Amino acid sequence: MNIVTLKPSKEKSLLRRHPWVYANAIDRVEGKPASGATVIVRSHDGRFLARAAYSPHSQIRVRVWSFDENEPIDHAFFKRRVQRAVAHRQAMVSRTGAVRLIFGEADGLPGLIVDHYVADRADGAAGRGQLVCQFMAAGVEAWKEAIVGALAAATGCPNVYERSDVSIREKEGLEQITGRLAGDEPPETIVTSENGVRYHVDVRNGHKTGFYVDQRDNRALVQTFAQDREVLNCFCYTGGFSLAAMKGGAKRVVSIDSSGEALATAQKNVEANGFDAARATWLDADAFKTLRRLHEEGERFDLVVLDPPKFAASREHVDRAARAYKDINLTGLKLLRPGGLLFTYSCSGAIDAELFQKIVAGAAADAKVDARILKRLGAGVDHPLLTAFPEGEYLKGLLLQVA
Ligand code: SAH
Repeated sequence: MNIVTLKPSKEKSLLRRHPWVYANAIDRVEGKPASGATVIVRSHDGRFLARAAYSPHSQIRVRVWSFDENEPIDHAFFKRRVQRAVAHRQAMVSRTGAVRLIFGEADGLPGLIVDHYVADRADGAAGRGQLVCQFMAAGVEAWKEAIVGALAAATGCPNVYERSDVSIREKEGLEQITGRLAGDEPPETIVTSENGVRYHVDVRNGHKTGFYVDQRDNRALVQTFAQDREVLNCFCYTGGFSLAAMKGGAKRVVSIDSSGEALATAQKNVEANGFDAARATWLDADAFKTLRRLHEEGERFDLVVLDPPKFAASREHVDRAARAYKDINLTGLKLLRPGGLLFTYSCSGAIDAELFQKIVAGAAADAKVDARILKRLGAGVDHPLLTAFPEGEYLKGLLLQVA
């Protein structure tokens, strides 16, 4: 039996149901657990704390599967966890084709992300859609087969693709890997729909699993505020917010991204929805420079979206990231007409909601505008946040209105 015994008093976080144990909290390891093997975690005085997955190469040495002493970790366990997560989504998230089915720790499956893209029937694309997974820890890697089987059974979707091309796997001693895990090869793009808008998703070559499912509710909000407005969408990727704005009746939408491929898909999305392409302008450019140029040229907008990539990969990068967030928010605010709206986001886990609000406040001060927070924003209900695991919060945003 593999047993991990903690140093004295290091059991506290597990007793509060936090699912990680760092290497420096461990006193000794008995048995020779392989990467991803199940271990029993005990307190220094021998009490059972959890069953968990062992990651020999990671500083996060142990990730908890279960705090229940009577729960074995076997195929049935993964079937239960996957079914529970899927049932929760079916109850909470309807009328959308793109859903996060499994969100790691919050679903009791640390290190696993699964998104489900349901094909839009109106497109004639039959089939039951596509599941896309990211296995980012040794434990879920070791149980991949069980998880894939459970996913197909719980969703009725036989097509499972892996996008574990994420650098975090190196910390687990795992290579980056992509490919088909079950069912058919994914089509070039799958057309899915969200808030009544159709989107092409390239699960093989797109970012992450192909689409930023986490912004669904925020795109819906943009849609409701877009009527007759002139919109600027920075870091637009495949046009998520841009298409939402067009659906909502925006007069004109200018979108910026430095990825030509993403912009090509965005233009396909305009077509897929039958929108007038003349309402949309796509700029293949650096957003920092282009924001400044647009401002200097006297362009002004009624609604600006700033949804940049993660600027702070870790805590060491917070200062530099804060300057970058301030830079775009400063120019974004200056580009707004009086009464204009700014939807601004950060997906850097290392920058919390409080710090992000301070950065935006600094930008408003430097822009010499009165910015009012209308709403605090975050990811949708398919990205739950475990109370015991505040680290799970990464996407935060603000809806601001300038006076
Ligand atoms: N809002 C999008 C997701 C944005 S992801 C949605 O709803 O789908 C971030 C995007 O920023 C990526 O598409 C990436 O290509 C782009 N990007 C990264 N650095 C950039 C830069 N300096 N200028 C412009 N775009 C950039």
